[in-house]
Amino acid sequence: MNDIQYPIKGACQCGKVTYQLLAPPVMIAACHCKQCQKLSTSAFSITAMVNTNDIRFSGEMHEWSRLADNGNTNGAKFCPGCGNRIYHFNPNDPDKIKLKPSTLSDSRVIQPSMHIWTCEKQEWFVIPPGVDTYEKQPF
Ligand SMILES: [Zn+2]
Ligand SMILES: [Zn+2]
Repeated sequence: MNDIQYPIKGACQCGKVTYQLLAPPVMIAACHCKQCQKLSTSAFSITAMVNTNDIRFSGEMHEWSRLADNGNTNGAKFCPGCGNRIYHFNPNDPDKIKLKPSTLSDSRVIQPSMHIWTCEKQEWFVIPPGVDTYEKQPF
């Protein structure tokens, strides 16, 4: 992935929310929990942990939050125009956000090094070799 050039632009499906990712994500994980299956309308969702200082958003976002199993608040920002989820955040940990990286223009970035909540994984999905796996939430 050495030839990936930053900043990388991102946008929701309708284009009302745009952003620039200035530096590589700290970590990329695929989450197989049931909540992420609902969110992604697929078998898992992909999250890129990004330093808040490494990303610049523009466009109005709406907000929703839920209480996670571990007691943390999961805040979610989404586009009011198309409903695309843009990122998640923990209000008690403002230095990092969990970007939904499928909105990036250069999708080569989106290679999970970690698969989590594999206890709720769809049986037909085979985890690729060489990645870390966790039955639940490792962090
Ligand atoms: Zn949109
Ligand atoms: Zn999940």
